[in-house]
Amino acid sequence: MNETVTRVSPSRLATYAACPRQYEYDSEWSVEAPEESRRYLDRGLAYHGAIEDTCTWVADHSGSPTDEEIRAYAAEAIDRQWTSHTDRSEYASDAQYAYDREVATTGVAAYFAEDGLEHARNSVTQEGWLTCNRGDVHLHGRVDNIVRTDDGLQVIDYKGSLSGIVSGRTHDRIEEHHDGEAYHADILRSVFQAATYIEGAKRTDHYEPGMDVEFTFYGLLHSVDRNPGRDGITVTVEANARNVGWIYDAHEDAIWSIIEDCYDGILDREFAPEPWDEIQEQTYGDCSYQGMCGDYLGAEVGLDD
Ligand code: SF4
Repeated sequence: MNETVTRVSPSRLATYAACPRQYEYDSEWSVEAPEESRRYLDRGLAYHGAIEDTCTWVADHSGSPTDEEIRAYAAEAIDRQWTSHTDRSEYASDAQYAYDREVATTGVAAYFAEDGLEHARNSVTQEGWLTCNRGDVHLHGRVDNIVRTDDGLQVIDYKGSLSGIVSGRTHDRIEEHHDGEAYHADILRSVFQAATYIEGAKRTDHYEPGMDVEFTFYGLLHSVDRNPGRDGITVTVEANARNVGWIYDAHEDAIWSIIEDCYDGILDREFAPEPWDEIQEQTYGDCSYQGMCGDYLGAEVGLDD
């Protein structure tokens, strides 16, 4: 393989699709955006780490651990990962810290109460790099889990919720975006991930021709309910999984055409934020770089008027 190629991650492609200038600040200049919420990032690291540890432990286990042994290991793993990734000082109060810990712990327990057992027992890759090449486009990304199924392989990406993930209701927006009829960069992150990981999984040793490759976004904390009681607040957590392999299959040509445009724009260093109106409308004032962005500030003070 030619190692001089430039590999881009689906996340960076998605930033470029959302706004080329945002990509420039983020990836070319490494400008630090204001701290979002360390709290949610760390919670994500904790549950990702706990699932990875548990799947690795099951894969390396000499025998076949029972359901209860897997659950017990997962409970220890989330305790360990929570302690190593989170910092009480990032939280407003002890109660908030305890609540988030309860959410993460309950989410991991709920996962290994059901789907997680099968995923752990059939996991073939945990937190591995996948690469894919298509024409002159070279992508890579770090995958959370690859599971062997009856039909082939299932690539899993763990999220807190499924908010912003392409769905049966929004998948037609891929074609609308591609045809220039509307601007739907908000769903492209999940679409780019699906393309990269499905094609990347086909390049692994686990893939055999003819296998089905599914891609699943697994919203581990999709629904969180607080239940006040005499002994304080307890939480219940429900996961939600969404398979998007069929969306990738249905829109493969349009997806790769959008990816190619973004990839070429990155390599050619084209960072003008176009289409301007649509980008500004989509960010709704949410862009972290707004306070320093020349394009935005210029338009705001009406330099052209
Ligand atoms: S403020 Fe607008 S133009 Fe500037 S980086 Fe953010 S989204 Fe792009």
